[in-house]
Amino acid sequence: METRTFTCISCPIGCRLTVEIEDGKINEISGNKCARGVTYAENEIYNPKRTLTSTVRIIGGTLEQLPVRTREPIPKGKMKDAMLYLKDLKVEAPVALGDVVVSDFLETGIALIATRSVDKKDQLTKNS
Ligand code: SF4
Repeated sequence: METRTFTCISCPIGCRLTVEIEDGKINEISGNKCARGVTYAENEIYNPKRTLTSTVRIIGGTLEQLPVRTREPIPKGKMKDAMLYLKDLKVEAPVALGDVVVSDFLETGIALIATRSVDKKDQLTKNS
């Protein structure tokens, strides 16, 4: 039997959850004040996901780096591949806040989007 503890981040209360796992399956979840904590714990054990936030190189822009994030959380297990992918990714300016940088990021079905606008050098865009 394995016991794991983590904080539910589904609401500001931040319940400290304790999950007992046996043979890869959840036996018991405790510490949650509501049912969302159960869902959170199940997702953390069976399919943990995180929103990726990072920066990528931008060519011809007023900044050298473009801040990006995944529109929704992606599987935690893809984070290493994601960072390697972003290391080589280059985007051309201009880019507007919310623009899709990669539509199907690492075949997750989730888009990678820009989290700020970056104008082209010597040519300001409306959204800056
Ligand atoms: S278990 Fe419920 S009350 Fe506790 S942090 Fe999660 S969502 Fe909030």
